[in-house]
Amino acid sequence: MALEQSIKRSIRDVPDFPKPGILFKDITPIFYDQQLCTEIVNGFIEKMQQKPDAIVGIESRGFLFGFLMANKLNIPFVLIRKSGKLPYKTVAHEYSLEYGTSKMEIHEDALKKDWNVMIHDDLLATGGTAEAAAQLVKKLGAKVLGFNFVVSLEFLNGRNKLINHSNNITCLVQY
Ligand code: AMP
Repeated sequence: MALEQSIKRSIRDVPDFPKPGILFKDITPIFYDQQLCTEIVNGFIEKMQQKPDAIVGIESRGFLFGFLMANKLNIPFVLIRKSGKLPYKTVAHEYSLEYGTSKMEIHEDALKKDWNVMIHDDLLATGGTAEAAAQLVKKLGAKVLGFNFVVSLEFLNGRNKLINHSNNITCLVQY
């Protein structure tokens, strides 16, 4: 079965989570299928135009395949977390949400200047989160080589927010 179909079959739709009107795409059933997890990691790697110097994963579901990918490529994995979670000195970026703002952080020494990094998360919705991650990567002097996601909700046009950073955007499954 094609990878996209296998992933779609394993994603569980949860209506009205975390609030009414949101159809949450739950990827946790994927982790019961080790073969599928391997195919997802390989699928991401096959679609890379060049080998990145590091993978940057976004809290928290971006850590799952992000780390596996980095480990398979034998490159560093870097965490971007919500404000107040990283223990060492950080650089922060504040960004707008539908209501209010949110802040994300990266360790100040996490990336070397001029590294080409791939930003990873489980899902691309409006693109605000991945865009904030791109800003953090740039604040540390590194370059955004591209973005990859397991799922994208194309009707929310998240790609438009990311295109200024890179048009190398891979989504294994699109809705
Ligand atoms: P956005 O910043 O709007 O692109 O939202 C992306 C972030 O929110 C990712 O970290 C996703 O895990 C999470 N997210 C947003 N919408 C959904 C959804 N419908 N199902 C699952 N996760 C979502």
